[in-house]
Amino acid sequence: MQDAFGRRIDYLRVSATDRCDLRCSYCMNDETRFVSRPEILTLEEIERLCALFMRMGVQKLRITGGEPLIRRNVLSLFENLGQWLGRGLSELSLTTNATRLEEYAGGLALAGVNRVNVSLDTLDAATFKAITRQGNLAKVLAGIEAARAAGLRIKLNCVLMKGVNEHEIASLLAWSHERGCDLVLIETMPMGEARSDLFLPLDTVLERLSQTYRLEETDERTNGPARYLRVLETGGRLGLIAPLSHHFCESCNRVRLTAAGKLHLCLGREDGVDLRRLLRANEGDQAIEDAILNALTVKPRGHDFVAGGTLSQGPGAVRAMSATGG
Ligand code: SAM
Ligand code: SF4
Repeated sequence: MQDAFGRRIDYLRVSATDRCDLRCSYCMNDETRFVSRPEILTLEEIERLCALFMRMGVQKLRITGGEPLIRRNVLSLFENLGQWLGRGLSELSLTTNATRLEEYAGGLALAGVNRVNVSLDTLDAATFKAITRQGNLAKVLAGIEAARAAGLRIKLNCVLMKGVNEHEIASLLAWSHERGCDLVLIETMPMGEARSDLFLPLDTVLERLSQTYRLEETDERTNGPARYLRVLETGGRLGLIAPLSHHFCESCNRVRLTAAGKLHLCLGREDGVDLRRLLRANEGDQAIEDAILNALTVKPRGHDFVAGGTLSQGPGAVRAMSATGG
């Protein structure tokens, strides 16, 4: 699959649910609305769409959300998708807040998952509770340990928040690298309930880190938004995601399927195609494939995010990450 700009599309992110057991301040608030249950794709519908995408050339699948591990029977989804590994699928991964990872890590590894991205913004239990409004840090840390024990490769995602976790970044880096995990620092994106007053520029953080650590540029890139530095003191990798710079759009290789079955071509844009309607109208594979190929022709060149914007400001900056599948 290729889009109109000649970018090869071989990566699909799938939101297994838009719901979550946490309420991170940059992602959701008490008023966040969820899609009604009948509107959510069944696991069988998700599998059918994934199978179609894989036949069309998708080689990497990431299951995300909301929180994917709160979806009932989600392990069966991983087990069934895992059957495609080595038969077109080269990577099956997930992004999780890790509250239930302790319970699932072994099963995920057995299903063929070899990488997991875990959100970890702080190592302080009180700060964690304040950020997530209801989370228990100990469960998350136990989840990370279980994932390590199961042999999963772990990337820790840390959203930078002014006045909240900015003083902890150096210790998070040491903690992650001691455990063999990459750390990825993420600037808040103006989506969903993101608060512009929390925006902390990556450059500020890097400047502070470089007082303690020697950070070496690398040319390691995925086709995603992260670029990587090598931390000479620890030997570990530090990923950087500054979504407001457009530098990652030109190599973007991904599309996203929401829990309600809408295919989005860009994280920062509203337009998409309703694949659930086609599925439930009993359309055959060919009609759905045509709709996907047609949608690809309008994948935008880049996103429209505005620095420090929020839901109510500016173009783009619309759906919460939890709705799209971050
Ligand atoms: N619940 C899972 C988790 O938190 O890892 C998976 C879904 S979550 C939406 C995926 C990622 O999006 C997380 O790493 C989270 O920190 C990030 N995220 C959510 N809202 C964001 C925002 N406004 N700006 C930057 N990152 C955000
Ligand atoms: Fe839930 Fe992940 Fe959003 Fe936090 S970032 S509220 S864990 S979906």
